[in-house]
Amino acid sequence: MRQPEALNTIEQLSDIIRNFLLAPPPGTPPEIIGAFSAPGGQEFLPPQLFIKVVEQAPVAISITDPNATILYVNTLFEQLTGFKREEIVGRNESILSSRSTPRDLYHQLWQTIQAHQVWQGTLVNHRRGGDAYLAELIIAPVLNSGGEIAYYLGMHRDISERHRLEQRLQFQQSLNYAALNAAPVVVAMIAADRSVILNNHAYQQLASEINHPQPASLFLAALEQQNQFDLHSVCHGAEGFHNLEIRIDPQNSHSPRWFSCSGVRVKQLDESANHYFTAASSPACYLLLIANEITSSRHRTQEAQLNMIRARMAEQQTVDTMHEAISGAIYQLQVPLNIIRAALTMPAGSHHGFTLHGVLQQAVSSGDTAIASLQAALPNKPVEQKLPINLNAILHEVIKLSTPALLASGIVVDWQPASVLPTIIGRENALRGLAKYLMDNAITALNASPHQQRELRIITRTQNDEIRIDLIDNGCGIAAADRFKVFEPFYSNWSQGRGHAGMGLTMAREIAISHGGSVEIESEFVGGTHVLVLLPINSVDNAFAAQEASS
Ligand code: FAD
Repeated sequence: MRQPEALNTIEQLSDIIRNFLLAPPPGTPPEIIGAFSAPGGQEFLPPQLFIKVVEQAPVAISITDPNATILYVNTLFEQLTGFKREEIVGRNESILSSRSTPRDLYHQLWQTIQAHQVWQGTLVNHRRGGDAYLAELIIAPVLNSGGEIAYYLGMHRDISERHRLEQRLQFQQSLNYAALNAAPVVVAMIAADRSVILNNHAYQQLASEINHPQPASLFLAALEQQNQFDLHSVCHGAEGFHNLEIRIDPQNSHSPRWFSCSGVRVKQLDESANHYFTAASSPACYLLLIANEITSSRHRTQEAQLNMIRARMAEQQTVDTMHEAISGAIYQLQVPLNIIRAALTMPAGSHHGFTLHGVLQQAVSSGDTAIASLQAALPNKPVEQKLPINLNAILHEVIKLSTPALLASGIVVDWQPASVLPTIIGRENALRGLAKYLMDNAITALNASPHQQRELRIITRTQNDEIRIDLIDNGCGIAAADRFKVFEPFYSNWSQGRGHAGMGLTMAREIAISHGGSVEIESEFVGGTHVLVLLPINSVDNAFAAQEASS
């Protein structure tokens, strides 16, 4: 076989490239055509200038015969490979092979180019001195006028540095992912449209535990409703936030979960060329949410708190009972006194009458003295500060406090809290009392019921600007005629009436009214009692402002 000759004349070289450019094989990348084409279109440059362009092209160019024997290389090829033109022309391109490229790849390379197609890929090459580099290579066949392959045009560049950077980036990424997934905290990157663009293993674990596809939406709702957090202002406030505590009541469990949340603002990637020198005035950003579960520590403090509450409630109950008993006595004393007062307004008719008049007046005045001393004995109810309160927490506490009574009566509680409940501003003990009065009533009603299956359903929801609590029992129910009377003081209709002063619903309603809300008995409900409590959601700011103003 005749040894091919190097392309020594400008005309030869320019002819080959001209042929190639006239009929580039299918799939020829635009950059290969661009490297040889004259600026501005299909017109060719004068051969001299054209060769200068190819010579100085910022990519290693080689032209081979159909067996890959090198006929021409440009300056960058010499610089990149370390081979001088005179020592490499006449050699096969395989001189560059580092022998670590899989043979299959060469096979595929040759199959492609022999089918008149352009091949693109990455090979491991070595330089003259032996050191390996990664060559990103494009090979395009150049056809003769008969449509046969006359030459191959090769273009390659060293992408070792890019590969190194990509590898490092990949390593960094896997490191980040490993750290992210190993972290025992829930992590989620949240975009302005509330979509989650990144999360970790703990996040996915939580999603499956609470059976919610996107726990981030619960976190955001809880932060907004329980901590006045605003996702849109995250981009403007450079600080982020730290350790905001939220409560989530999973739908599939009776146990609430508590998280301490921190948020960091992360600027969104801006790839726009226009913002290369000057950043966009209002760049979009993400919220990196880090949520540390504090449920077990909350449970511990709550247990201790519950014992305190138990003691406080027992004390409060004693005070309330005394209050009720004394109020009852005052009320009952006032009835005969009023009759006597009415009798005294009648004219004294006889001597005996006159004496009776004096006696009655004495009775009135000693009665008044008794009332005054009873009123003085009324225990003072402590004034309670208003605080941000989560009603799910209050109700859950009351359920726990009532557990012994519920178990003793065989009552099943179906607790259906809203996953996330907004905070309201209120008096904690009073609201706990409200829940306890209603819970005690439900237990008494269920005990009075002949049903074998005793059920109490407690549901919390947000409805417009109010929190709605439904307490539904399948107990003895309240007769239609009594639905208003039951709220009157001292009205008690329990069959086992002992120990009930008939003040529970009166007090519950009073507490709800003092919070701007209401307690009603659902009139349509049959087969038990359905008590509906509505309490308005005040924004913390407004409520505190109102409290400041009133104090
Ligand atoms: P070889 O025995 O040369 O080839 C291995 C396999 O390639 C064979 O089994 C066969 O499947 C196929 N093959 C080789 N030659 C032919 C042929 N003439 N006809 C049909 N099939 C054939 N290789 C590099 O490693 N680095 C480069 O930078 C590089 N640049 C090239 C540029 C051009 C323009 C061309 C045409 C080829 C280039 N090659 C390059 C491929 C090179 O020619 C060799 O095929 C390759 O280096 C493998 O060489 P080898 O000695 O290991 O095996």
